[in-house]
Amino acid sequence: MADLSDSPLARVRRRRAWCLCVGSWVGLPVPGLAAVAQAAAPAASATPGAPPASLPGRELRHRLPPEAGTPAGAAAAAPRVALTLDACGGASDAALLDFLIRERVAATVFVTARWLAGHAQSLRLLRAHPELFELQNHGERHVPAVIGAQQRVYGLPGAADLEAFRREVREGARAVEAATGQPPRWYRAATARYDEQALSELARMGVRIAGYSVNADAGGTLAAAEVAARVGRARDGDVILAHLNRPASGTRAGLEQALPALRRQGFSFVHLGAGELVEIGVRQP
Ligand SMILES: [Zn+2]
Repeated sequence: MADLSDSPLARVRRRRAWCLCVGSWVGLPVPGLAAVAQAAAPAASATPGAPPASLPGRELRHRLPPEAGTPAGAAAAAPRVALTLDACGGASDAALLDFLIRERVAATVFVTARWLAGHAQSLRLLRAHPELFELQNHGERHVPAVIGAQQRVYGLPGAADLEAFRREVREGARAVEAATGQPPRWYRAATARYDEQALSELARMGVRIAGYSVNADAGGTLAAAEVAARVGRARDGDVILAHLNRPASGTRAGLEQALPALRRQGFSFVHLGAGELVEIGVRQP
């Protein structure tokens, strides 16, 4: 199947999504966005299997740990995937939440403090179903985990300095705890990229990073058929990344198609949980 993520249509969608989700959050001048070659995170891996070019930092690729008692290399009896949804900023896809509740699909939702502040109704829904939804830390203002405002990841400036980065992580965690009563167990940076200084600081702070292994919607820029195809290729242990803040994209329709199909194949949907994730080195779009 042709890759859609770098089609002209996809580029237009990315710019639109960028304006809605990112530009309004960080005060980027919207006219300047047209000059931004890449868009919302982590969308710029236009070619499956190819690493993003010329971006600061690196992604962390994670899968779920094997279930206890499963011999190494043996297939688990019941395959599991973890659906993770980033709520970066901008809108909230209420219909996607309704679908997940109706279908009883568990998801780990990475929220920014600003998204939480703007979506009380969605927060009520999330909190009304603790058996389905865990809220985790996506930062305060959706600032990438790269140090230096001159650095840009998909057009987003990095943290001004180390203290600004600490604040991004700390205040994001504080917002999750204020909303749920529980401190977050996981952090995923805006754009899901991290430079070495940020990684060192996160380790020093004792913050655990949640990567992913299936990039389902390329930052909420893909058509439903491509989202469904990507999710449909999930294997046992995959951590799927999609977006909760792109209701105009193909994300919801793609998930509505693919998640019930996975369930029919015997997959169950689990949270990231408390255990260590397994780092993998191969990009899997
Ligand atoms: Zn995000």
